[in-house]
Amino acid sequence: MLKVKMIGTGSAFSKRFGNTSALVEFPSGYNLLLDCGHTVPKRLHDLNISLQDIDGIFISHLHADHVGGLEEVALYNKFVLGGRKMDLIVPSSLSDSLWEDCLKAGLHTDGDGLSDYFNAQEVYTSTNVGSIELKIFQTFHVKGMLSFAIGIGDDLFYSADTKFDINLIKMAAESYDTIFHDCQMSAKSPNNVHASIEEMMTLPDEIQLKTYLMHYGDNVDDFDCGEKRGFMEIAEQGWTYIVGGEVNE
Ligand SMILES: [Zn+2]
Ligand SMILES: [Zn+2]
Repeated sequence: MLKVKMIGTGSAFSKRFGNTSALVEFPSGYNLLLDCGHTVPKRLHDLNISLQDIDGIFISHLHADHVGGLEEVALYNKFVLGGRKMDLIVPSSLSDSLWEDCLKAGLHTDGDGLSDYFNAQEVYTSTNVGSIELKIFQTFHVKGMLSFAIGIGDDLFYSADTKFDINLIKMAAESYDTIFHDCQMSAKSPNNVHASIEEMMTLPDEIQLKTYLMHYGDNVDDFDCGEKRGFMEIAEQGWTYIVGGEVNE
C-alpha cells in the first residue's frame, strides 16, 4: 500500500494547477517525490510539507515542469538544512544531461556534480527503496528526448509524460494496482506530446476503472463528467490517494 499525494496536477502551461508531481509515502515511511518542476517548491510549502520530510526525488525527464524546482531544493538543502542530501533517483541515460544541461549553471560554484548536492542514484531498469522495487519504463513523449515512467512495487504506475502507448498502458494495467496517467484534454492529434482524452477513452472499462488522469490543462472542468472521461477519475491537486493492497507487516 502506498499513499500518493498529488502536489500538482497541471500541464506545463497550466496556470490554475501546479506542475504535475506526486509525493509517495512508502509503508516504511520513506517519502519519494515524483518529479520536481518549477512550481513544486512553492506547492510543497502551501501544503505544509517540509523538504526535510522528503527522502528522495525521482526525475522522469528534463522538461522544466519536471526538473525546474531542483536547483532550489539543492540550494535549500545545502544552505538551510546544513548540507542535507536527499536521494536523487535518475534514469542513467538522463543523469549527465541533468547536471550539464539543467543544473550546472546554477550549482557548479559549490560543487562539481549531482553528488555534491544529492545521494545520486542512477537507475538502468530498476532499483529498490527498502524492500520495494522501482522500475522505469521508457516513454514516447517528445521526439529525440528521453523520458521515463515509473512503477512502484505492484501498487502504482505513474506515466509522467508520454504519448498514448497502448502497449505501455496494457503492461501497466496487468502489473500495477493503480495507474496515474498524463492526459491532454483535447482530441487526438499528431502534434500531441501527451495522451489525449480521446485516446484514453478508447481504453477498456477495466483499465479506465484503475486510472487517474493528471497533467491536464486549465480546461479540465469541461471534462469532469462521465460521458467525457468515462470511468477514469481526474486526480485532484492536494488530495491523497491510497493505492495497492494491504501490506503484510
Ligand atoms: Zn510535463
Ligand atoms: Zn514533458
